[in-house]
Amino acid sequence: MEASDARSAIRTKIVATLGPATDDPERLAAVLEAGVSVCRLNFSHGTHADHARTLRNVRAWADAHDRPIAVLGDLCGPKIRLNDVAGGAIDVHRGDTVQFVRGDAECTPGRFTTNYPRFVDEVDIGHRVFIDDGLIRFLVTDRQPDAVTCTCTTGGRVLSHKGVNLPNTALSTPALTEKDRADLDWAIEHGLDYVALSFVREPHDVDELHECIQQRGGRAGVVLKIEKPQALDHLDYFIEHTDAIMIARGDLGVEMDVWRVPLIQKDITTRCRRAGKPVIVATQMLQSMVTNPMPTRAEVSDVANAIIDLNDAVMLSAETAAGTYPDLAVTMMGHVAEATENYLRRNESDSRQPFTTTDDPAQAITHSAVQAARRLDARLVAAWTATGRTVRLLASCRLPMPVVGLTYDPRVYRQMNLLYGVIPLRTEPMSHPGKMARVLDQKLVEKGLATTGDVVVVVTSTQPNQPGATDTTLIHRVGTDIPAPPEQ
Ligand code: PEP
Repeated sequence: MEASDARSAIRTKIVATLGPATDDPERLAAVLEAGVSVCRLNFSHGTHADHARTLRNVRAWADAHDRPIAVLGDLCGPKIRLNDVAGGAIDVHRGDTVQFVRGDAECTPGRFTTNYPRFVDEVDIGHRVFIDDGLIRFLVTDRQPDAVTCTCTTGGRVLSHKGVNLPNTALSTPALTEKDRADLDWAIEHGLDYVALSFVREPHDVDELHECIQQRGGRAGVVLKIEKPQALDHLDYFIEHTDAIMIARGDLGVEMDVWRVPLIQKDITTRCRRAGKPVIVATQMLQSMVTNPMPTRAEVSDVANAIIDLNDAVMLSAETAAGTYPDLAVTMMGHVAEATENYLRRNESDSRQPFTTTDDPAQAITHSAVQAARRLDARLVAAWTATGRTVRLLASCRLPMPVVGLTYDPRVYRQMNLLYGVIPLRTEPMSHPGKMARVLDQKLVEKGLATTGDVVVVVTSTQPNQPGATDTTLIHRVGTDIPAPPEQ
């Protein structure tokens, strides 16, 4: 890569969900090659054996190509689904009366069952019941000890195992189900870089996940999926207590009025950036590419707008997991990102100034580094990081130049690949800023990220390799020595 290429490389990261469409290693390779930074394994589908095979293929490709591909395991959370439907499908029409009853029996015309045992206890008169992403809708009109009676307000074809959303019902189910715990065990055992939690509602949901990860000795970063209206009441807590947020527009657009979702998306993005936390926009971004080789104009606009809003990452779901054109979908996202980011570079505004939320020294150092980099039009900003935090703060400033994150920790190396504009590099642990500069210069030149004489801003520490000890901003010219600090 030429240094000029590195400068113009896209900053927005692409998260691709893997599935049957990427089972074949060659197809997977085409998808990864097209520009994926993070792969998502969705525990709602497939077995642990399927995920293990996919993970092996991803890791093998990443090792062979020396690329920091992060892997995110998405725990399904308390997703309610219909049980089997007798005959495979049942048509319901507006005005029909249907009962949801206790038990595991098959759904039959007029009598439906779900996988949620407390359904009949918790759904009440006046609540709405949605099936299949809200395409089929019911209003609860009556309840008995073992059934709730509903009137269909929007009809359609009901199929086995379709998702059920209960936007008005306060569910008592825990955020982590038995299945999630088993999936979490698997994720930790297999060293996944992130785990995502679905349907978070209350602060204790995220506390519980952190506790479970800790108990299992895991180091996976946490991604909280915002997809319930209740989650919006605790957004500040969730942002503070997570490693990243996913705006899961699929369920969010079912659980609440879909026309409110774009504004909620913008609000979440702004709040995450302000707090220095990465944010992913998910679902239906290029949905028509599941079956078509080209997206709709509206989909392209959606991706472009997420990039204009400076989200860290945009996500593909069925487009890459089950679509006919998984690599074209990634390539298309890359084209939209490139064109949109070029526009942003030409029309940069002060809205990208870093946000300072606390009196934290790392934020103050980040702030000074960002100001220096902008004023000097530095080639890039480089930061040594033990946990990834300094690099995360730099990324949240949405700089016009790349942020190079150097770390000795293989997991932090991969985790940093979710962050806006960040190029992760792996190094040995360092003990001295002078040595760090030599190693940095060598890496930057070797990777084509800078050339001798370029000005780079370096964020580092007088106590290297210590988490939380970032205390130094250096203005460094590639190829020049940094003198040793005086002996104490
Ligand atoms: C969503 O609902 O937007 C989402 C990302 O979650 P899932 O794909 O698990 O439904």
